[in-house]
Amino acid sequence: MENCLFCKIVKGDIPSTKVYEDELVLAFRDIAPMAPTHILVIPKNHIGSVAEVNAENASVVAHIFTVIPKIAEAEGLVHGYRVVSNCGSDGGQTVHHLHFHILGGKKLSTEMA
Ligand code: AMP
Repeated sequence: MENCLFCKIVKGDIPSTKVYEDELVLAFRDIAPMAPTHILVIPKNHIGSVAEVNAENASVVAHIFTVIPKIAEAEGLVHGYRVVSNCGSDGGQTVHHLHFHILGGKKLSTEMA
């Protein structure tokens, strides 16, 4: 996707602080962290949001959920963390490339919405 910020990060056209990469997935630090640890995990291939996950592309989401605990362990999030994916305007999504926020490093707010 030509004008997608996260596709540009995948291509290396925009810099990021990478914490994990493999052939399917990239994880990097959020530029405006909302917790001491705030990492975004994205599929390298463009998927717009959770709303675009389907039988054809769901395997990368399963893969992302095997990567998340590895990142959390590497980051020392021994007391837990939160995984969030905002979807659409009501969900507060601002970048339209599927991403999972990993938030941790402190006791997080109990407010979900
Ligand atoms: P969301 O609001 O759920 O779509 O999340 C998008 C996230 O991307 C926000 O937390 C932003 O701070 C983050 N973000 C935007 N631009 C960059 C960037 N260039 N590098 C890292 N994170 C970014």
